[in-house]
Order: sequence, then structure tokens, then C-alpha cells
Amino acid sequence: MDHLPIYFDVKGRKVIVTGGGTLAARRADLALRAGARVAVFAQRLEDDFRDLAGNERLTHIAGEVTPAAFEDCVLAYGATEDEASDKKLHDLAKRARVPVNVADTVKFCDFIMPAILDRSPLVISISSGGAAPILVRILRARLETMFPARFGQLAGFAGRFRETVMKRLSDGVRRRRFWEEVLDGPVADMFLAGDESGAQADMELALDDAVNQARHEPAGEVYLVGAGPGDPDLLTFRALRLMQRADVVVYDRLIGDRILNLVRRDAERIYVGKLPRDHTLPQEEISQLLVRLAREGKRVLRLKGGDPFIFGRGGEEIETLASEGISFQVVPGITAASGCAAYAGIPLTHRDHAQTCIFVTGHGKDGMLDLDWATLLQPRQTVAVYMGLSQIGALSEEFIARGADPAMPAAIIDKGTRDGQKVVTGTLETLRRKAAAAGLSGPALIVIGTVVTLHDKLAWFNAKRREKTAVPAA
Ligand code: SAH
Repeated sequence: MDHLPIYFDVKGRKVIVTGGGTLAARRADLALRAGARVAVFAQRLEDDFRDLAGNERLTHIAGEVTPAAFEDCVLAYGATEDEASDKKLHDLAKRARVPVNVADTVKFCDFIMPAILDRSPLVISISSGGAAPILVRILRARLETMFPARFGQLAGFAGRFRETVMKRLSDGVRRRRFWEEVLDGPVADMFLAGDESGAQADMELALDDAVNQARHEPAGEVYLVGAGPGDPDLLTFRALRLMQRADVVVYDRLIGDRILNLVRRDAERIYVGKLPRDHTLPQEEISQLLVRLAREGKRVLRLKGGDPFIFGRGGEEIETLASEGISFQVVPGITAASGCAAYAGIPLTHRDHAQTCIFVTGHGKDGMLDLDWATLLQPRQTVAVYMGLSQIGALSEEFIARGADPAMPAAIIDKGTRDGQKVVTGTLETLRRKAAAAGLSGPALIVIGTVVTLHDKLAWFNAKRREKTAVPAA
């Protein structure tokens, strides 16, 4: 971060603005809206000041700013759009130790002005530190459409209950939960739909419930959430909501930083990463950890790569939870085969190529290939192999030994959907060599079947650009 974002209380305090044009009027308006007393130094106030003219907290001084003006002043804005005048304001402010901002002149700024979305009392401010003002504008426009005007009133509505809730729910964790349920649930929906008295009645009921529950043991919960193959855009809304709600997140190696960054900032993070042969924490201990955390009353986010029920051992984890009486919910995610297929331009089924698609793991229970070959060798079928990269040699040899055509097209998608995605295409015979030459690091998915020939046709422009490092087809 280049700047420290803060919200500064200027109520009843003096703010200096120099300049009489549009920019100066905007600065003055903002400071007035935040309750400041504003002294504007300008020979003449132009039309933009007309709407502010009646405000008794605004004083116009038709002259240059003086050192004496800085007495009691807490902020100064230079907006004369004249370098010499702005510099003078800057120097005076510095001498008086008053933080100063000069419009469009970074070297004269102690602080910069964010783009603001005002849904008072809810205020959203955005800054790119000056790097991309247009991006900030686009983002602000998007937020504008996301937050209905009543959103601000919702904050006001919640604010009226704040003290009562504070008194009746003394435990901080319970209080946060209560607010999450109210502001992200039917009470808020009712309020936003315009039924304020209904929302108020429901709010009171919800508070009674929360107080009664608080007398009992805290009830934790586990969210078994599929985070998809890596691109955060592939998360589901529900996954994101629960990620924002968790007290603690238990995650493994497949979860990249870009996804982890979306988990609630102050949630505790526990890494239980698993490498194929080097299990950091045995599965049984992970399940027990989830039970223990939930028993402490926490909302536990068990974040898994892809889909939790596809080679994710999610089934085993919830079996333990169920037998221990811990409540849980499961959120599906985009599995690696779907994500990789889409981002590599390899359809898993296609009328001309494959009517069946089968997902298998190349990593058997004891590390050996233990596959049902008769099923795998069926014609017009796509085989997606998870956890197969380290066994790629043995895997292709076995396929060929059991009667598959050595020229059968096959592909490896490495780091599918993520930065640095690589797609290596070849045949059962050539894939091992090409994979070695490409220096893949995993996670990687192997796709076997004639659908792979569609990759070149379908790896359209964008995908090709993403795969700058792609190894061309044989
Ligand atoms: N539950 C996960 C699979 C976990 S097993 C899912 O549904 O996707 C781990 C294997 O998934 C890896 O060895 C690899 O084969 C595959 N995988 C996961 N993420 C991947 C990615 N981004 N690109 C390619 N393969 C991936």
C-alpha cells in the first residue's frame, strides 16, 4: 500500500480550500458534507459554488491565503490549478504542519483523494494510488450498481440497534455472528425491500434468539468448500460468502494465494498441505482437527481445491463430522477436469469423439497404479487422470501394453486456469518425453482421448495468449 486509508473526523473543524473553480467547489462540497467549516480563498467563486452558497459553514475570503488562516485548520486543499498559487498553499500548510492535497500534483500532496461512493453512513472509497484512475472510475461505477441507494439506510437501521445488541450480547464472536446473519439474511432483505417495521420486528426476534442461544454451548460448524482449480473467478458465490464468514480456514497445497486472499482477513489460517507422498497431516488428524475447532464454537472453513467430492477425501471428512454430531455444509466447486478442459480448449465429450468421460486417479491407495483397465480402454471415451503426473511414464506404458493405440492423442494441463498454465499435447507414446522437456511442476491433469486433437482448433486467441509457454502439438 502506498497510502494509509483512514476516515478523518472534520466535524466543526476548519478546512482550507484555495481556488474558485470546479475542482475547488468539489473539494469544498466534500468537506462540507463531512461537517467541516470551510474557508475558501479565491478572488471569485464560479458557478459551481452556487449550490454551496447558502451553507453557513462556508466562508469566502476574496484574497490570497495567509499564514494566519492556518490557525485551527486541520486540512488544506489546493485547487487553484495555478502552480505558483498551489505551491504557496503547499508551503504554508507545511510550515503550519497541516496535511495538504493539491489537485493533480502528487509532489504537493500529503494525502490523495479516493473515489467515493457515498451511501452515508456507509462510505466506500477506492484508490489506485494514482496508478490507474480510469480503473478506479470503472470500479466505482460497478459498485454504484451493486449497492442500492437503500444500502446506506440499512447501515443506519443497524446503527440504531447497535447499543442494544452490544448490551444484550456481550460476547464479541456471537455479536459478529448475529450481525452477519441479520445483515446478510432475511432481515436485511426485508429492509431493502422497503418493509422497515417488519424488519424491525424480525430484528428483535433474531436478537432474542441469539441471546437465548448464547446461554447454551456455542455451536460450531464446518463448511466443506470446493474452491475450484485456482482461478478465483471460478469460485461460486456461496463459496465466497462462507469464505467471508469463517473464523478459521483449514487449507491445503492446492489453494493458491489468490484464493486464500479472499478469506476473511482476520480468520485464523491452518495449513494442512499434502504432497503426494509426504502427508503433512494424516487425513484422520485433519478430520479430528475439524471436529476440535468446531467444538470450540468456531465456523470452520475446510477449503479444498476443485470439488470436495472428487478425489478430495471430502467424504471421509464429513463421515467423521457426522459421527461426532458436528453440523456441516458442502459447497461444490469446479473440478480440475472441467476447469482445465475449458481453459485448454479440450471438450471432455464431443459428438464426433467421445460419448463418455471418466475421471480416474493415477495415485492408488498404496502409491501404485491400480486401475480398472478394461473400463479405461473403451472406445469413444475421454479419460481424465488426476494425480498422474509423477506416474506419466508407467501410465502410458500400461495403456499401450493393454492394447491402446500408441498414437492415441493425450495432453497434460499443468497449473490449469492459473497464471502460468501450460498445455502439452502429444500421444501416449510421446507424452512422457514432451512432459519432461516442458518442465512441468503440477498440479497437472492428464487427458487421454481424441478430443485432445480439438485443442489446436479451440485454443482460441485468449487461451493461446494465456499459454505463452504452451508446447505445440506433435
Ligand atoms: N478435488 C480436486 C482434486 C484433488 S486431487 C478437484 O476436484 O479438482 C489433486 C489433483 O487434481 C492434482 O494432482 C491434479 O491432477 C488435479 N488438479 C487440481 N488442480 C489442478 C489444476 N489447477 N490444474 C491441473 N490439475 C489440477
